[in-house]
This record gives sequence, structure tokens and C-alpha cells, in this order.
Amino acid sequence: MKIAVYPGSFDPITLGHLNLIKRASKVFDKLIVCVMVNSVKKPLFTNEERVEQIKKVTERFDNVEVDSWDGLVAEYAREKGAVAVVRGLRALSDYEKECQMAIINKKINPELETFFLAASEKYMYLSSSAVKEMAAFGADLAEFAPRELIDAIEERVASKK
Ligand code: ADP
Repeated sequence: MKIAVYPGSFDPITLGHLNLIKRASKVFDKLIVCVMVNSVKKPLFTNEERVEQIKKVTERFDNVEVDSWDGLVAEYAREKGAVAVVRGLRALSDYEKECQMAIINKKINPELETFFLAASEKYMYLSSSAVKEMAAFGADLAEFAPRELIDAIEERVASKK
């Protein structure tokens, strides 16, 4: 069974992340979406909330699991018997950081491959920060965030203002 890990902050999960999950889940037998603890300094949602949110919006994918991890991705992958880490590439600006991480992960766990999926044209410029910013200005999030989470995002952003 080919298992892949999709690590990230997912603060909050966006339609861009979800698009990647949908596509990667077709390529691997099992995809574990993993909320990386401590990856954001002041998160909008707690790790537990993010795990619950991702579970809710990925319910329809039979081979997708959700977890969180307080350590290195490469070690998590080894523990789970994963063969790959999946990451998304949007603009050129993602490239350098992502390559660096792929090299580090390979050093820690030489068996592990990093698979990059090109962002879909529709979500090329979408990020969790953009969603938070739009929410702060009262913009309609329908095209950017999963429907089930829009109210929670708007409420949390408003409470932090
Ligand atoms: P991190 O803090 O680890 O970069 P993110 O939650 O921002 O976590 O992103 C996780 C992964 O998903 C990264 O590889 C990122 O490039 C990718 N990603 C984020 N938004 C999109 C998007 N709109 N389209 C495709 N990939 C994306």
C-alpha cells in the first residue's frame, strides 16, 4: 500500500488545499493530511480545531485520514510507513522553500520522496492568509474556503479583531 503524507498548517484549510487532497488521494492508496504543530506562531484555530475541520471537509474521501504531529515530517512519514510527502506549488515563490524542505526531508529519511502538485489555475493565488484577510474585510469566502467552515472562519476572525 502506497501511503503519502500531506503536511501543512491548514490555518484554515482552503479550497486550494482541498483541491490538492482530492488529486493526491487518487494517486496514492492512502493520504494522511497532517496538521503540523507549531508551524504557525499565532494560529487562528487550535491544532485540534484544524484536525476536526479537515476531517469534516474530507469525509467523502475514503482513503484520506487526518492527524497532527509535533515533530519532523520525515520522521512522521517513517513512523507511518509513508513513501511520499505531497506538497503544492503555486507561484515561483513557493519553489525555493519547498525544494529546501524536500532536500532536508531526504537527508533525514532517504527512502522518502517529495511529490509536488502544481496548483490548479483557479487556486494559484489562494492561501490561508488570503482567506483570513478577506474574512477581516468582510469579503465573500464562498470561492475560497470550504462551505462548512465559512461561518467559523468569519466568527473567529471577527473575535480576534
Ligand atoms: P505550510 O505552512 O506548511 O506552507 P500551508 O497550510 O500554507 O502550510 O500549505 C500546505 C501545502 O499546501 C504547501 O505545500 C502549500 O504550497 C500548499 N498549498 C497551499 N495553498 C495551495 C493552493 N491554493 N493550491 C495548491 N497548493 C497549495
